[in-house]
Amino acid sequence: MEKFLSHRTLILNSTFQPLSVVSYRRAVSLILNKKIHSLEDSKIVFKSEKTKINLPNVALLNYFVNAPYSRRVALNKENIFIRDFHTCQYCGGVAESVDHIIPKSKGGEHVWSNVVACCKKCNLIKADKDLLNTRLKLIKTPEHPVGAFWVKTIVGSNPDPSWNKYLKSA
Ligand SMILES: [Zn+2]
Repeated sequence: MEKFLSHRTLILNSTFQPLSVVSYRRAVSLILNKKIHSLEDSKIVFKSEKTKINLPNVALLNYFVNAPYSRRVALNKENIFIRDFHTCQYCGGVAESVDHIIPKSKGGEHVWSNVVACCKKCNLIKADKDLLNTRLKLIKTPEHPVGAFWVKTIVGSNPDPSWNKYLKSA
């Protein structure tokens, strides 16, 4: 498979705020229409009969787009796993399910602060008990994802390293 087919470019607003993630096709079109310019080049080259373009890893929009400050991230298993780095938040093992810290049966809500990625073993120990009635301890307090978390929901837990400094400022 041609490398460029799976290439993704992080697009930043003219204010450097991460705006979207686009495919090579969209990136090429934005470049040809002079709407973006590259901040971080990749080594991947898109070639067609007429053009040869070095695909950017990160590109800056040449104009300002009025975009919502933060994007809503769906509260689902996949995104909880991404937030928690696919790691059980009780033992650090490989996460396989989602646990409600305050069990739903005891009025616990399905919200970011009450859900964690969890392995099978800890899930069995935890069951429908309150955390205090088990020997389990949370590795960290679960929080609502902030900033450019939505980028990870598109490309997974580990975006291209060249993206990191731009995602931090989000
Ligand atoms: Zn565990």
